[in-house]
Amino acid sequence: MISLRADADLTEYNSFGFPSCAEYLADVECEEDLVDAVSFAKARQLPRWIIGGGSNLVLDTYIPGVVIKQNTSGYSVLESDDASVLIQVAAGQNWHELVEQVVDQGWSGIENLALIPGTVGAAPVQNIGAYGVELKDCFESLRAFDTETETFVSLSREQCSFGYRDSLFKSGCPGRYLIVSVNLRLHKQFAAQVGYGALADVLSGKALSLRAVFDAVVSMRKAKLPDPSKLGNAGSFFENPLVREEVYASLVEAHPGIVAFPDREGYVKLAAGWLIDNAGWKGAREGGVGVYEKQALVLVNHGEGTAADLKRLAGRVKSSVHEMYGVELVPEPRFYP
Ligand code: FAD
Ligand code: NAP
Repeated sequence: MISLRADADLTEYNSFGFPSCAEYLADVECEEDLVDAVSFAKARQLPRWIIGGGSNLVLDTYIPGVVIKQNTSGYSVLESDDASVLIQVAAGQNWHELVEQVVDQGWSGIENLALIPGTVGAAPVQNIGAYGVELKDCFESLRAFDTETETFVSLSREQCSFGYRDSLFKSGCPGRYLIVSVNLRLHKQFAAQVGYGALADVLSGKALSLRAVFDAVVSMRKAKLPDPSKLGNAGSFFENPLVREEVYASLVEAHPGIVAFPDREGYVKLAAGWLIDNAGWKGAREGGVGVYEKQALVLVNHGEGTAADLKRLAGRVKSSVHEMYGVELVPEPRFYP
């Protein structure tokens, strides 16, 4: 029987730590609970929202309807041979703890994605990525509840339409699929993925091993990113904009120090953090919220902030970047409601 709490406090369920209350919170322990939670919302014509670790969300003070939270965890081995292992991981499993466990097993593929907060069920939503690796690189398939057909379905990598911090679940049909488990193929032979500049620099001259890459990623992230349990944040607040090469060429002329990387043919990826920093926002503080002093792409809650304060600040940052470079910044987190 599904456990539903009315007027549930979500302050601890969002990494910004914004005060927020859900009309109902459904704690889901199994697939049957998930179906019950969806039916409950449908029968009362209530909106429904799915939440994992709340580390890529901006929650307003009141969320009408049913917030669904999956509390499942753990993984099982589906296939194993000399070269690889296929694991099935429950959606509610903490992502970083999974990375630690597979590194302990000597399985490689997701070590560059260490210390990303949140759950396994949310990882395909924005095809999480860091240090040159994306979830899609080791993703095989997932199981989800399709709220349109009201059936459980299996979706392959192709069907998930993964893109740069994007997928079917984020921009294709958000809210339609509730992911219950994710299948990942990991390698038993370690193949280092250290092409990303900052990671290559830190590992330069050191013996490359699975553990060394994992440790390097963890320590780089700890040095540069705020720990949400101490300073509320949702990681990068804006996506890195992709612009056409000719737009980039005129930007370089006006701003010779601009940081950018080649992307798909004809496009260049701009480092949004550089644009914000160069516009003078790093360390800025407005009311209870601000721009993180070590990485301008991260907006933070200094303790007393609300979603409304954050939206105001984000709007001002966005306008100033647009005025200065003509580039439109798009927020990465989702806003509820
Ligand atoms: P939530 O924030 O709870 O939800 C995010 C979205 O996923 C929502 O739209 C939600 O509806 C949907 N969702 C959640 N669970 C499910 C499910 N089971 N089925 C269907 N939809 C679901 N992201 C990166 O990509 N790379 C990084 O390096 C990175 N670093 C970060 C560092 C910090 C300090 C922080 C705070 C965040 C960082 N993030 C990063 C963002 C965030 O951690 C990831 O996007 C993460 O996958 C979100 O997981 P979550 O469980 O907290 O999802
Ligand atoms: P960084 O190393 O200071 O680099 C700044 C930006 O430049 C990054 O966004 C990155 O793009 C890009 N970049 C740097 N070197 C690159 C290369 N060799 N090839 C292609 N792109 C390159 O970034 P950081 O803030 O310390 O973050 C480190 C990694 O963790 C990045 O991959 C970042 O995406 C990830 N991260 C993500 C979040 C989030 O919430 N989404 C939060 C924190 C960190 P990419 O972002 O495309 O990699």
